Amino acid sequence: MSSLPTPAPMVTPITSEFWEATSRGEFLLQKCDECQTIVWFPRKHCPECWTTKLSTFTASGRGTVYSFTVIRKVANEYKAATPFVVGYVELAEGPRIMTNIVDCDPESVTVGMDVEMVFHDTGEGNALYRFRPVVGP
Ligand SMILES: [Zn+2]
Repeated sequence: MSSLPTPAPMVTPITSEFWEATSRGEFLLQKCDECQTIVWFPRKHCPECWTTKLSTFTASGRGTVYSFTVIRKVANEYKAATPFVVGYVELAEGPRIMTNIVDCDPESVTVGMDVEMVFHDTGEGNALYRFRPVVGP
């Protein structure tokens, strides 16, 4: 198992604040000022009430594994990193996000496992968010 590639994301005017924060090790979420919905992924409108009144805050970076799979074969630049884990983590704030579970044996990952966010620098002014098992309390 080697390191996962860190391809730079496509940054748009709507996501630029989010990606800039990842360079500081921060994961931003939005909260609707009208209906209080926590919004993932970055967007201009609340997906529940359609207001444009959204505030941004830094997430805790903690969550639990909601679902996952172990990727054992791929035919792209991720081939050297197999086996690796792709899954959904349910953030402490509620949203479920697609990610990788890293820094552990893929066979040790379980649904419900406590995980914390880590950031992998893309070398282009931002970082990819991934998760590792929480060690200790
Ligand atoms: Zn709303």
